[in-house]
Amino acid sequence: DTAVEVRDARKVYGQGAGAVTALDGVSLGIRKSEFFTLLGPSGCGKTTLLKLIAGFESPTTGQILLHGSDITFDPPNLRPVNTVFQSYALFPHLSVADNIGFGLKMQGRPKSEISETVTRMLALVRLDAMADRKPGQLSGGQQQRVALARALAPSPKVLLLDEPLSALDLQLRKEMQIELKRLQIETGITFVFVTHDQEEALTMSDRIGVMQSGHLLQVGDPRTIYTRPANRFVASFIGESNFLTGTVDGNVFTLDAGPRMEVGQTDGAPATGKVTAAIRPEQIRITSATLGDGIPATVTQTVYFGTDTHCRVALADGTEITVRLQSPASGDVGLHPGSEVTLKFEPGALILLPKA
Ligand code: ADP
Ligand code: MG
Repeated sequence: DTAVEVRDARKVYGQGAGAVTALDGVSLGIRKSEFFTLLGPSGCGKTTLLKLIAGFESPTTGQILLHGSDITFDPPNLRPVNTVFQSYALFPHLSVADNIGFGLKMQGRPKSEISETVTRMLALVRLDAMADRKPGQLSGGQQQRVALARALAPSPKVLLLDEPLSALDLQLRKEMQIELKRLQIETGITFVFVTHDQEEALTMSDRIGVMQSGHLLQVGDPRTIYTRPANRFVASFIGESNFLTGTVDGNVFTLDAGPRMEVGQTDGAPATGKVTAAIRPEQIRITSATLGDGIPATVTQTVYFGTDTHCRVALADGTEITVRLQSPASGDVGLHPGSEVTLKFEPGALILLPKA
């Protein structure tokens, strides 16, 4: 049930001293009808990977398979794949309907079929009333819907979306996220979506592939990526993490700054020795009492964010971490720089990271 398979793909642009390795041995299986997101910072190779799938570039080594057949060297127009770019690249002189029907017309489909498909696509992206307008008479969000409808019209097996929402303002981007998710579910087409926005990736995807410097670091569903990041980069790029150093022995972790504690998940981490553990700011409880077990700490700063208050605290060894608290109705969490506090968390909240 694999729609797209990438086998050990390497892509080097240029030669000699100026050569850039954009992808360094990426292997990946994208399932049929899934909303798959490639997430990573600018320059990590996301667009290059999409180009290999679309056929705009060939891998230096490695293979691309589509529904089991090798398409590595098939030209783009022979692949049942379509791409939506950040710049919608609509034809300004064509109506919305003609923009949507353009690809079908190029394929030489009959007029009746084109007009039937265009009508269906207009309804799908909720632009029925806009069929005769020119792109210049539409808002940014509406233009993005036309670009989507145009890419979906030839019924591709796979739709590639390269940061399609990054030019939109926040409000519109949120609306289009919901819209895209709906389109993917309604059409059942495999979506490969690229973003550098971790929140967008978490809220929209069935699965996420996290990339850094031409490498695929981790593939998993949003919950797994967030709760069990494979390494320090993933833990800090997706959401916010505090990092604590200590020593592990079996399932007991002894914090450099203080107490010993049981740990829940140790997969991938060394069984003994020095390790780094990650903990999410919202997983830590804070009490103003300084008695009992837990980690003693001192508040250094509180920042009010509306629903949350972020509290910076220093541990005994000087390590500073962030605790995210729900703001009380009064807005005042009752903690101030200098407050002596105790931190607690569930054993499972601590994620031991592999050395790398
Ligand atoms: P992303 O989409 O994640 O920002 P890209 O795939 O565009 O990353 O780029 C990955 C790396 O490859 C970057 O270092 C970029 O500068 C380089 N690169 C991309 N396209 C080319 C090209 N045509 N020629 C040379 N280097 C390129
Ligand atoms: Mg890019």
